[in-house]
Order: sequence, then structure tokens, then C-alpha cells
Amino acid sequence: MSEVDHLLEELVTANRILAREGVVDAFGHVSVRHPQRPDRYVMSRARAPDCVEREDLMEFTLDGTPIDAAGRKPYLERYIHGAAYEGRPEVMSVVHNHSPSVIPFGVTSVKLRPLLHMCAGIGHQVPVWDTRAAFGDTDLLVVNMDMGRDLVRALGGGSTALMRGHGCVVVGHSLREAVHTSVYLELNANLQAKAMAMGDITFLTPGEVDMIAGSTSGFTIDRAWEYWCRRANRPVQSLEI
Ligand SMILES: [Zn+2]
Repeated sequence: MSEVDHLLEELVTANRILAREGVVDAFGHVSVRHPQRPDRYVMSRARAPDCVEREDLMEFTLDGTPIDAAGRKPYLERYIHGAAYEGRPEVMSVVHNHSPSVIPFGVTSVKLRPLLHMCAGIGHQVPVWDTRAAFGDTDLLVVNMDMGRDLVRALGGGSTALMRGHGCVVVGHSLREAVHTSVYLELNANLQAKAMAMGDITFLTPGEVDMIAGSTSGFTIDRAWEYWCRRANRPVQSLEI
């Protein structure tokens, strides 16, 4: 199997996992940077992630232009992905989703911060991007590169950002890492809301976040990936091609 074929199979699996784990529903999407063309990325046509098949995958230039649409309709919000790849050369995968537990943290002054060791990858504190600041009243969708770039400025050098009244964006050095962070971002938000109802929270300290993030290995992420593949009824591919 070629490097590209391998990654496309991984991308189908990523779509199914994000659906099975409740990160995406009918909406939301995941992409990978093309392994041989860093000025391009690959993502599904506009389709619910749990339904995505290999033939749905399309290649785009970073400005969101399809290479060969062949009648397929792309996601409206693909500019989130292109802007992240353009602004962050080290980013290899992007997830955009509306996972339910993160939404309250985008519409209140409560900061989303890691409180569970498995969630250190979300960063010290998740920034919130508000479309209104630069674009006024909109339908909140990221429908051009200007909006995508503004969102990526809010993301800064981090791995996650919330989008007010809408959802979030997650980036990773690999497809598996971006999926891993997305699943644990949703879990952290869920747990933080529960803990807030009980009283004051002891969050991870900045030092703990750095130590955990620095020691989270590919092995940890691959172990979760194998489990999620089982749950999503997808084969586990070796990282060796
Ligand atoms: Zn969206």
C-alpha cells in the first residue's frame, strides 16, 4: 500500500471514530495534510463523518479549491482547515466539530482548562474565538479564508480553540493526535461542567500540563486508536507502510 493510500484509509477511520466517540454528529469534519504535497490537504465531501467512504475523499489546495471535485460538494467550512495548514506548517491534521460539552465554555466567561491527566493535550487554557469581533453579525460559519485566518490567529500556537456559539477547532502533528485531542477535549469539558456543579476545581497546574504533554508518547495515542478502531468497527493499520 502506498503512503497516500495508507493515509486515506486512516482518514476514513478517523471520521468513523469521531462519530462513534460522540465528537461529531451529522456535522463536523477532519482533514490531513497531503503527505507529499504540503500545499494541499485531503478531506471528505460534505457528508456525515460516520458515512464517509474512501471515494468521498477530496484533495484541496490550501485556499479551499478542489483539485478534482468530480461533482462532489465540499464542506462549506473547509477554510478552517486550509487556514490552519497555511498558518501552522507543523500541523498535519485538523478537526472541526460542534461537540456538545464544549459549547457552554464558548458562550460564558468560564475558561476551559485541563483537569484530568489524559486531557493535558488540550493546552493550558482553551482560547475562545468570536466571529463578531472582526466580522459583526454572521451566520457564524467559517466560509472564507479571511475568517479561517482570523480563527487561526486565535488558536495561536496551541492545539485547541473554541468558536463562540458554534464549536471548536483542534490541530495535531498527526491525524491520530488530532483525533485523540478532540476526544479528550470533549471529555474534559464534560467533566469540568460536572466538577463546577460540585464546587471549586483543582485544575492541573501549568507544570503538570507541560510534563504530561511532553511525555505523552505515540504508544499512548496508538493504544487509544486501537481501542477506538474496535469500537468503530474499522481495521487497525500498522504505522509501518
Ligand atoms: Zn461548524
